[in-house]
Amino acid sequence: MGNSTIDWNSLGFSYIKTDYRYVSHWKDGQWDQGHLTEDNRLAISEASTALHYGQQCFEGLKAYRCKDGSINLFRPDQNAKRMQRSCERLLAPLVSEEKFIDACRQVILANEHFIPPYGTGGALYLRPFLIGVGDNMGVNSAPEFIFSVFCIPVGNYFKNGLSPSNFVVSEYDRAAPQGTGAAKVGGNYAASLLPGVQAKKRNFSDCIYLDPLTHTKIEEVGTANFFGITRDNQFVTPVSPSILPSITKYSLLHVAKERLGLEAIEGDIYIDQLDRFKEAGACGTAVVIAPIGGIQYGEQFHVFHSETEVGPVTRKLYQELTGIQFGDVEAPEGWIIKIA
Ligand SMILES: *Cc1c(COP(=O)(O)O)cnc(C)c1O
Repeated sequence: MGNSTIDWNSLGFSYIKTDYRYVSHWKDGQWDQGHLTEDNRLAISEASTALHYGQQCFEGLKAYRCKDGSINLFRPDQNAKRMQRSCERLLAPLVSEEKFIDACRQVILANEHFIPPYGTGGALYLRPFLIGVGDNMGVNSAPEFIFSVFCIPVGNYFKNGLSPSNFVVSEYDRAAPQGTGAAKVGGNYAASLLPGVQAKKRNFSDCIYLDPLTHTKIEEVGTANFFGITRDNQFVTPVSPSILPSITKYSLLHVAKERLGLEAIEGDIYIDQLDRFKEAGACGTAVVIAPIGGIQYGEQFHVFHSETEVGPVTRKLYQELTGIQFGDVEAPEGWIIKIA
């Protein structure tokens, strides 16, 4: 399949079968060298732990076409390290940083014509994942594993420019206090489907999860991290063992401090003290930043900057970070790996 039928400007975030994906198998204590394949199906044992006991984890990162035609991969070392931490939590074998980045590189190069052109705001989204497979019945770690990376071209999330949307606080928890919230595992996502649908039925973009222990502090926004800009220009983002450590969030902490001159801190964000903040947003690889217009909490609806306009600090953060990703703004050392 080619890319001649793709309309880059109307691309969303949907599955498209691109030409090649990378697959590597782990057996008898080691990974094989891995290979590219055109087959987008996996044949695995019906007794695989990934199917029954949720022994699986994944990652998400993007490659960008730059103005000069080169390709930027954004902070893949951070995704590799995070997948290692997820694997440690799940008793799965680790993939080395080198193998992880090499797999991404192979997939990008083999599907290069699927990278959206510079200027469309799109990118090549990479989905590395690791699953426990093989014949196994008891609740044990799997006898074999598969590490795979596939990719899809994705469009700019904001087709008509950055715009805010509203969120609602969920009564469900996403993760347990000492559970798997900090690991990027599918089980957390399965648990988030119902609260997400309930929020969307009420015309909210997604739901906000409070800390599972006291239900007084903001933890996550759907499948993104939260940040707020205080009235005295602090960039604040919550810290907790049940939050998934977003690479976009850590990148924004750096950009806020080093490029925008804000005080950047990780600290508690109480749901009944939202007046501290003049702006708020959700951040993650897929959207980069989704500005938050307002938050519904029980009977109360709190509006930050505006329900229709994006605040100036949020806009600057978005421009600086996307500028770095597309190669238009100088990147902090080590943030960009040139693929071609
Ligand atoms: C992946 C993910 C994020 C965002 O992480 P990024 O590294 O910025 O893409 C935030 N929250 C959850 C629950 C996630 O799974």
